[in-house]
Amino acid sequence: MNNIINGTEIAKIIKDEIKEKISKIQGKKPCLAVVIVGDDDASHIYVKNKNKACEYVGIKSDTYFLNTNITEQELLNLIEKLNNDSDVNGILVQLPLPSHINEKNVLLKIDPLKDVDGFHPYNIGMLSTNNAILKSCTPSGCIELLKRYDVKIKGKNALVIGRSNIVGRPLSMMLLNEDATVTTAHTKTKNLEYLTKQADIIIVAIGVANFLKTHMIKDNVILIDVGMNRDNGKLCGDIDFSCSEKASLITPVPGGVGPMTITMLMKNCLTAYKIQNNLV
Ligand code: NAP
Repeated sequence: MNNIINGTEIAKIIKDEIKEKISKIQGKKPCLAVVIVGDDDASHIYVKNKNKACEYVGIKSDTYFLNTNITEQELLNLIEKLNNDSDVNGILVQLPLPSHINEKNVLLKIDPLKDVDGFHPYNIGMLSTNNAILKSCTPSGCIELLKRYDVKIKGKNALVIGRSNIVGRPLSMMLLNEDATVTTAHTKTKNLEYLTKQADIIIVAIGVANFLKTHMIKDNVILIDVGMNRDNGKLCGDIDFSCSEKASLITPVPGGVGPMTITMLMKNCLTAYKIQNNLV
């Protein structure tokens, strides 16, 4: 039996669904503004991939390349301008920002209804109260993969390892909203192995290569690997892939969660467009 979750295939299916919906929009298409400060190579690659995805689904994308020396106020002024521009539906500020700019101030400045990354405290609060419309992309990509593979989340013991603001925390909230019984583990967690052996679903987002091993899991567990690490130059996840021998489903790295992140960003852009045009 093939127990490997094909994130690349699911991402393509969802992008095609979005593309079809956008093709039916009469008049102005959704527009995403991407702001990138400085010349971090990885950030430039991400932005290029985002633009490619926008082009594929039919979202207009405007990229603002800003000099690394830009002041925080200048960046805030640009966000203000984009907030007030009714032609812009989504705003994404590529992280990380240079150290002289306060990331929190920048994220707070983005209009929550244009916050396609789902990082604004308003959207986090909406998620916490199970009312979210714009949800952070990587965690919603994980949930979407589970759903597309018909995994019943309700009532399951779900363990999230990692509690970052961009992955672990929102993911725990999303699993709770799907009626799972959720445990969140982190570096201060005691007896992690006890927890991993109880879990029906384990999602690992810690950034430690091949951390979760076969002896730590029970048979038929469902494993989602968010990690993106280099092990001797080779891309790998946080889950040792030999766990696939015991798991009923597992995401590979690459080709699992990775392709879903930008896809969920596209979904959020379309949702933001709909909210702003009173279509939801
Ligand atoms: P992060 O901000 O560094 O957070 C890591 C989290 O893991 C922290 O909560 C930390 O606990 C916990 N942790 C670290 N080592 C641990 C250990 N040995 N045992 C238990 N918990 C441990 O990382 P992140 O931004 O969430 O990213 C995590 C991984 O996902 C990275 O590999 C990143 O590259 C990848 N990622 C992938 C995508 C994608 O699109 N596929 C998107 C985002 C991130 P404490 O809070 O106690 O320090």
